[in-house]
Amino acid sequence: MTPLPRSASTVIIGGGVQGLSAAFNLAEMGQTGIVVIDAGYWQGGASGRNGTLIRPGFASTAWTELFMLTVAEWKTWSKRLGENVMFTQRGYSVVSEKAASAAMLEEATAMQRDLGIRSRMLKSAEISDLLPAINRKRVLAVQHQEEGGVAPHHAALKGLRAYCEHRGVALHYRTKITGIEVTDGRASAVWIGDHRIDAGNILSCAGPDNPDMARLAGVEIDGFGMKIEAMALEPTRPLIKPAIALIDSLAYFHQTSRGEVVGGTEVPERPRMSLRVDVPVMAEMARIYLEMFPQLGPVRILRHWAGQLHASTDYAPLLGEHPARPGLWFSAGWSYGFAGAPAAGRLLAGAIGKGHIDSRMKPFALDRFQTTGPIIEKGIVLA
Ligand SMILES: Cc1cc2nc3c(=O)[nH]c(=O)nc-3n(C[C@H](O)[C@H](O)[C@H](O)COP(=O)(O)OP(=O)(O)OC[C@H]3O[C@@H](n4cnc5c(N)ncnc54)[C@H](O)[C@@H]3O)c2cc1C
Repeated sequence: MTPLPRSASTVIIGGGVQGLSAAFNLAEMGQTGIVVIDAGYWQGGASGRNGTLIRPGFASTAWTELFMLTVAEWKTWSKRLGENVMFTQRGYSVVSEKAASAAMLEEATAMQRDLGIRSRMLKSAEISDLLPAINRKRVLAVQHQEEGGVAPHHAALKGLRAYCEHRGVALHYRTKITGIEVTDGRASAVWIGDHRIDAGNILSCAGPDNPDMARLAGVEIDGFGMKIEAMALEPTRPLIKPAIALIDSLAYFHQTSRGEVVGGTEVPERPRMSLRVDVPVMAEMARIYLEMFPQLGPVRILRHWAGQLHASTDYAPLLGEHPARPGLWFSAGWSYGFAGAPAAGRLLAGAIGKGHIDSRMKPFALDRFQTTGPIIEKGIVLA
């Protein structure tokens, strides 16, 4: 392994999709001397454990503008990275089972269409065509976003890593940041045991450990660690065309090209942080899947796994420089952080590399709870 450097233009903590997307965008802008440090193994964080669903439209303008950018960026990644990230715009359907969520989706659709998203409420015949196996008795309304879809995480991560290595970004996995040095109020270096790296800027993309990274620099950030679980069913014939969110049952899934149904559900009572899976959570996921797609009854569960996130108290990302610790930036609070990585990487690279704070990033500032207030987003599948 190449030795750790003594100085860096930007030290990125965390080599998941957020950290690598930021490194890629900074390198593409021409920045040199970028270092990515990750305590875990390659693809070991949530970035290698997610459902891979991507959509542009939400219920708030702030989320929608950020994710419109992300979908636009996803479309460019294969070409810019020189590797096929297999982003497939097969559509994304948000299914409502209750009057309140149906009304929310109607309102969100109007807003999304005003912003230019190809989003619509499906007519009955369209629901049968796109979701032939869905239990129509449970469905009140379906919003469909044509530009949504999926991208396998292994393809995106492989493309990002290959690009970064080719452009001279130093990547160090199984290497843990243990300290952040502060000089005259500014974050100025990181420590890995007794090795010091002088840093022009530090960007924390440490997933559930983001609050710990803030504390290493003597500050706090909003939010808490959260464990979520997902599962894959054995391959079966095509039953589900688009990616799907069940907004009232807090579930999301899609059927891969191999025929596996992959996704997860949110459980309001969250087990403690760990990577252990829980049989009651699996049973609850199976119940939700079966109620909506009874034809999945005979299909066996193939795999079940857990991953950990850092969630903010309004469940929206936290993007930007820490107001009390210049030089220390965050891409944190991500629950839709696989989908959001291309936008976050681009916006943070612009902010760190050129000092430009894009209007799509501003609503997600770390101090929003004291300034503009929390972001109210009703279109996410989170309890
Ligand atoms: C089951 C599941 C399903 C999901 N489904 C979706 C989905 O369909 N769509 C979507 O958009 N999102 C989804 N997500 C969320 C998404 O996976 C995350 O938001 C995203 O991966 C966050 O990326 P990240 O790079 O910030 O975090 P991670 O991938 O978790 O990376 C953080 C990295 O920081 C490293 N780190 C921590 N502490 C230190 C330290 N002290 N020093 C150095 N490195 C450190 C860790 O080793 C880790 O590799 C899902 C997540 C899970 C778990």
